[in-house]
Amino acid sequence: MLMRWDYEVDVAVVGGGACGLTAALAAGYGERPHSRGDLQVAVFEKSTALLSNADISSGTLAAAGTRWQRELGIDDSPEAHLADIMKKNGDEADIEIVRALCEAAPHYTEWLADEFNVPLMLHADARRIGHSAPRLHSDPGREGGKVLMGSMRRAVDGRSNVHLVDQTPGVGLIVEEDRVVGIRVQENDVERTVRAQAVVLACDGFGANREMVAEFIPELTDAPYIGVEGNRGDAIHWAREVGAELVHMGAYQGHGFVIVGHYTRLNPQIVIEGGIIVNEDGRRFAAEDIGYSELAPVLLKLPKRTAVEIWDGRIQDRLPPTELMRDSEKAGAFSRHETLEELASSFGLAVDVLSAEIERYNDGVLHGEDEFARSALVDPLQPPFYAARITPALAHTQGGIRVDVRGQALRPDASPIEGLFAGGGSAVGISGSGPHGYMSANGLLSAVGGGYLIGNHLRATL
Ligand SMILES: Cc1cc2nc3c(=O)[nH]c(=O)nc-3n(C[C@H](O)[C@H](O)[C@H](O)COP(=O)(O)OP(=O)(O)OC[C@H]3O[C@@H](n4cnc5c(N)ncnc54)[C@H](O)[C@@H]3O)c2cc1C
Repeated sequence: MLMRWDYEVDVAVVGGGACGLTAALAAGYGERPHSRGDLQVAVFEKSTALLSNADISSGTLAAAGTRWQRELGIDDSPEAHLADIMKKNGDEADIEIVRALCEAAPHYTEWLADEFNVPLMLHADARRIGHSAPRLHSDPGREGGKVLMGSMRRAVDGRSNVHLVDQTPGVGLIVEEDRVVGIRVQENDVERTVRAQAVVLACDGFGANREMVAEFIPELTDAPYIGVEGNRGDAIHWAREVGAELVHMGAYQGHGFVIVGHYTRLNPQIVIEGGIIVNEDGRRFAAEDIGYSELAPVLLKLPKRTAVEIWDGRIQDRLPPTELMRDSEKAGAFSRHETLEELASSFGLAVDVLSAEIERYNDGVLHGEDEFARSALVDPLQPPFYAARITPALAHTQGGIRVDVRGQALRPDASPIEGLFAGGGSAVGISGSGPHGYMSANGLLSAVGGGYLIGNHLRATL
């Protein structure tokens, strides 16, 4: 039977987050002119009102070799970025994909800033585990991902050949003879068919789908999830149905610094600057600076899954002014205490145990030793103190569809599925197989970088 098509475009993108909008801009308005004039691109988005993970993220783009780094005399390169990522993921990611992303990153950060007025600068004072050089770029006011996404939506609005179709979720793929030839979307209450030369799956992972989390990441079954509700693993279901291989489905970005009762986050830099974490008995239990993703499973093993993070006035003064601490402060999610007694009483901790613990920690700092072999031994902690009760959470999933360097979906025998591309959280990430391989900003590197590689490939080949 001949398919009746409601709409026809060159490229149909499912998901209007970081990956989807970048893919659409690169395909529709790339750096090189297209031989046939502009490609027609439609981005079908479930609901911008529900936001994307990119909207609620810190919006930090990791890129090495940018002009902002050169202006500050920072010696960095895509090769160094690649080496850092592969070290962090224990060589578990596809090195050719990581290489392609790291090489693309300085180009697309400058392209986004220059072509689409995305406000970006290097924050040389932002320190994150695993990065051997300062390479995190975001908006000057550090307002978070809403600035990045707002600018990208405005860029799409300004292009007549790229359309963001809101409140219109993708609901399935259309396949003819092993080739993906279009998608089905839900427009109001009516299902419509969209024919496309290429379909790009950019609807992130499955963090909001509790059944899938229980299936693939059972240790997080009951853990809080701090991502958006729209990301329910739709792309992964459809790709599986058409024979794509799924890789590293247990991989995720955990977050160890989510504040109980508020669900805002503490700046991960606190522990790098010398903050500590104690359990509900007032005792330290791990190297606090192992990384915020891998700290999550450590905290999950605590009896109540809660702990208290403690830092002091000097650390507080050293923290860069990010949206993380602004949001937490506005919510009253952390508190200041003039004495340790006051802090202990406020958090229901035994003051004698806590005092002894801090004394032991401070002594270790002075002697350059630590019972948990933490790397960051900066200054002894001293009053005034700051503290918050924290709990671990799932931020987003990192496993997904196996792709090649162009973002084309692959079967288990490595053959490409014609017409089907995936990026960002819908594709397998670059953080290995569990929570340990996630290095800060790997998420948007895969998403914006993946979208950029896919969009440029489609622009060059369609
Ligand atoms: C709290 C938090 C903080 C983070 N901070 C950072 C950071 O600072 N730096 C960093 O690099 N990474 C960060 N990340 C990770 C980063 O946000 C994600 O890796 C990235 O946004 C993934 O991009 P994406 O385009 O795949 O998905 P998203 O940006 O989540 O976009 C997916 C879009 O698809 C839509 N969608 C879902 N299903 C459908 C469907 N069936 N049809 C149509 N649309 C659909 C969703 O509504 C959403 O708009 C953070 C994540 C979280 C949760």
